[in-house]
Formats: sequence, C-alpha cells, structure tokens
Amino acid sequence: MRKTFKYRLLPTKKQLQKLNWTLDKCRILYNSCLLDRKNRYEQTGKGLTRIKQQGILRVDKKIISSLKEVHSQVLQDVLFRVDRAFQNFFRRVKAGEKPGYPRFKNEGRYDSFCYPQSGFKITEQGLKLSKIGTLKIKLHRQPVGTIKTCVIKREIDKWYVCFSVEYEPVKRLIPAQSIGIDVGIKSFAVLSDGTVIDNPKHLCKSEQKLISLQRQLSKKKKKSCNRKKARKIVAKLHCKVCNKRSDFHHKVSRKLVNNFGFVAVEDLNIKGMVKNHRLAKHISDAGWGQFLSYLQYKAAEASVVVEKVSPHYTSINCSVCGEPVPKTLAQRIHSCPFCETVMDRDHNAAQNILLKSTAGTAESNAWGEAVHQCPSLNQEASSIRVR
Ligand SMILES: [Zn+2]
Repeated sequence: MRKTFKYRLLPTKKQLQKLNWTLDKCRILYNSCLLDRKNRYEQTGKGLTRIKQQGILRVDKKIISSLKEVHSQVLQDVLFRVDRAFQNFFRRVKAGEKPGYPRFKNEGRYDSFCYPQSGFKITEQGLKLSKIGTLKIKLHRQPVGTIKTCVIKREIDKWYVCFSVEYEPVKRLIPAQSIGIDVGIKSFAVLSDGTVIDNPKHLCKSEQKLISLQRQLSKKKKKSCNRKKARKIVAKLHCKVCNKRSDFHHKVSRKLVNNFGFVAVEDLNIKGMVKNHRLAKHISDAGWGQFLSYLQYKAAEASVVVEKVSPHYTSINCSVCGEPVPKTLAQRIHSCPFCETVMDRDHNAAQNILLKSTAGTAESNAWGEAVHQCPSLNQEASSIRVR
C-alpha cells in the first residue's frame, strides 16, 4: 500500500535561496519543454515524446552549466510532469471533454520538485538533498515502510517534504458493527445510530475576515509590492482554513474506521451539487469529497468496508416502515403518518443509507424489522471479530 508522510523543513537563509532557485530552474525547464512541444506540433503536426525531450535536455546540459546545479533526476521528473500534463489533456479530449491546453507556469504557480528515486537521505543531521545540502527537518514521527519518492514543496512561505512510502498495513481487530452516514449542511454528518457530528464551518467563521482582506487586496495597485503582500495574507488565511478542515476530516474518519467494520455512505455527485450556487459554498466548506477520500484510504488500510449507495429516496422514505414521506428541505423532522415514527430527518436518512447497503440488507433479513426500530439492539449485537 502507498501512503505519504509530510514533514516541515527548516532551511537556513542560504538553503532557502537554493530551494527557490532550484524551483525556478525546474519551472523554466517545464515552460521550455511545453514550448518545444507546442512549436514542434505547429511546425510538423507531430508532438515531442518524453524520450526525445530527454535527449534535448542532455544536449542543453552541456551548454547551460546552471542545469548541472540541479540533481539530474529532479530535472528528469520535470519532463515526466510535462508528459503527464499532455497525456491528461489528450485523454480528456478523447473523452469528449473540453480541457484547457497545458499551461505555462508563472512564478508562484510552480511549487514543488521531486527526487523520484535517489538523491535524498534522512540522516541524524536532517534531510540530505543532493545539490542543496542537509536541511533541518521536523521529524514529528518516523515514516513507516520503504520510501519511494521525495517531493520538496513550497506552501506560501513554508517548505515541506513529502515521502511517498510503500508499506504493509498492520492487521488488527475489525469491529463487527455497521453504520450509515448522512452528510448534511446543518450538521456535518448524522450517523444511523443517532450520533450527530457538528459542522465546524471553518470557512464561514473566517469568511468575514476573508472578505475584508479580499477587499483590501482589490484596492491595491496592480503589480505593486503591497498587492503582493496582501495576496500573501489572503493565501495564508485560506491555508489556515484548509488545514483546520483537513484536521477535522482526519479525526472524524479515523474515529469511524476505528469503531465500525462497515460504513455505508451516499454516492453523492459533488461536482453536480457544487453547480447549485445556493448550496455550493456550504458544500465546499464541509468538503465532503476530501472527507470521503480520507475515509476510504483509512478504511482500506484497516480492511474496513466502505460502500457507496444511491442517495435516491434516502431522505424521503421512512426507515422503519419503508413508506414514502415527502418533505421539503426546511422540514427537519421526519414524522411518519403510517407507523408514527418521529425522528430527525438526517437520522432517518442515515438509517436508510445503512438499509440500502449490503450490510443493511443482510441484517434486515436476519433480524427482521426489530433491528431498525431499536438502535440499542444493534449495539448489543456487536462483538469483535477477526477477519
Ligand atoms: Zn413509517
């Protein structure tokens, strides 16, 4: 299995210069490779392959001595990036989409370089990088497994290293209990056992501040130093919000994976939903997509099953008797006229999501309707099993 470990780097002033310089060399190479491909295509109607560009780079290195100041594999990786950009472009064209042509990268739009195999080493002094030096690293925990690649990344004004590792996950006990999750706007999620996970709404809280900062930024003269400064402040606040949100998603997904052996979620069309402008802000704020991806990779690591079910009728149908009970978005309570069940609408939806999944179907066959009427019974039935 693959996993990434990210650590903060604390470069000296001199190293900082070298890092920025290397990044800029990579960016210039990226842009010139892009231009070469574009020119070649316009002249001959054929593109350039990565192998051919490698040959060109070899010749260039003999003429441009500064290219020798960058680790050779780091330069090679830039060619791979250009190649990937074109491959993605052509793939999307083939699929009938309308992708943008691979773009030239401005300063600030190119923020990482990669040692794909060698040229880096963790020593007692820090992270040793070929052609750059030994950088101080905040090794807050040891990376597990075999390190495959090493990416050096700039995030606004901080530097990080990301190690991609290949590892064998440790086998552990898997809880037998199953759960359904309904993600929402009012609360971040409601579980089928009735647990409500509140939405921290990090972005909403910081939004007023962000708006005023954005306004300040727009008043600054174009290309001025002050504008640059203001842009940095806005970017920093954005970054802070992102980090908080990511932390929250990590914590919630970890809890779910540790406590349940089966998780049923809605198969939401997030891209389509964000197109609805009234909901877009909140959906992006809650970041369901990120949460789901965290949940899935953590689940895969722990052999926990995550099943996506179709979201149709999950908020309408009654989770106890199955009869449809239509309601508007404003109606927060599910009140069934057929079986007289009254519960929170999201709680009802979460139970329906679990019922729709394979675990829910199997359970209702074995236990009958009783399981769904009484959540505590569900808890009693749970025991630890080894898979
Ligand atoms: Zn009912």
